[in-house]
Amino acid sequence: MSQRMMKAAVLAGPKQIEVKQVPVPALKPGEIEIKVSACGVCGSDVHMWKSGKGWAEQNGDFWMGHEFCGVVTNPGDSRFKVGDRVTFWANLYCGTCDMCRAGQEQLCREVNGTNYIGFVCNGAYAQYFVGKASNAYLLPDTVSDVAAGLIDPLMVAYHAVRKSGIRLHDKVLVVGSGIIGQMIGELAKKAGASYVAMSKVSDVKTRRAREIGIFDDYFDGNDPQREKLLKEASHGGFDLAFEAVGASSSLAACVDGVRPGGRIVMIGNSIDPEVSFAMNRAVLQEMELIGSVSCTRKEFEETIDLIATGMMEPEKYVTEVLPLEGLQHAFERQTDPGDPMVKFVVRP
Ligand SMILES: [Zn+2]
Ligand SMILES: [Zn+2]
Repeated sequence: MSQRMMKAAVLAGPKQIEVKQVPVPALKPGEIEIKVSACGVCGSDVHMWKSGKGWAEQNGDFWMGHEFCGVVTNPGDSRFKVGDRVTFWANLYCGTCDMCRAGQEQLCREVNGTNYIGFVCNGAYAQYFVGKASNAYLLPDTVSDVAAGLIDPLMVAYHAVRKSGIRLHDKVLVVGSGIIGQMIGELAKKAGASYVAMSKVSDVKTRRAREIGIFDDYFDGNDPQREKLLKEASHGGFDLAFEAVGASSSLAACVDGVRPGGRIVMIGNSIDPEVSFAMNRAVLQEMELIGSVSCTRKEFEETIDLIATGMMEPEKYVTEVLPLEGLQHAFERQTDPGDPMVKFVVRP
């Protein structure tokens, strides 16, 4: 039997994507095969793109892609049927440890919250994807392929906003101008925030957010008067701040922005293993620091529902939809600080 082949956008070296023919992965028990319809290009792919390798030792070609949907072409031994539209939750989990049994799959002891499809194994920057049926979810017709390519950042924003314990009329500061920060601002408004502001370092990246009109105000994170301006605008400090960058300067902006007893939710993935911050200010003002990663399995389903019901329309964040051959270009733009892009989606 001749092997089936497909196109994949292989990571060929540092900052180098090469579209080439590779074998379609073989189906193992418990897995399904889909023809990929769309795959979002994520900021966290950029680190692998720069280094030219994935997170795990890999023999042979590696390709990324973890924000995707497609049509089932082989349901294997699963409950799915050929032709079903599905999306995958990229968060791998064991399903049997204490965290998984408590419905906290994002904290699974076995995979330690860092093992995702497209990071430790091949992803969906390819024509076909084969993966665990237990990570696949049916997509309602009201969720378009492109919108499904944005479920991943939306689930991160949704989990963070829920973890924040936001209440009606809270004043909210978002530090960071990426897609997750923008979605957090939108969700916070929808959850009843009275005033939502963004602290950013570049105006370019806020262009789309300004067009959409989510934020009430924008602050320059580099302004030496930052603390004074944030406190004045929020009449004494924000109830909640979201750190969506992953750097000591942005965590410091959160500390500057919140009121005594305020809460800081940290979502940013820091490249540095250690980030310093003014601990004593957090202690003396009884600030609460909360980490937030991915979401629970239940929240993943709810995220699909946010789009299906029309509460969130993530397509408005999409800068451009590109073919697989455009992925290299997408990463070049994504790493250009002068580019106003917010989100790219690839359709293989
Ligand atoms: Zn992502
Ligand atoms: Zn587990």
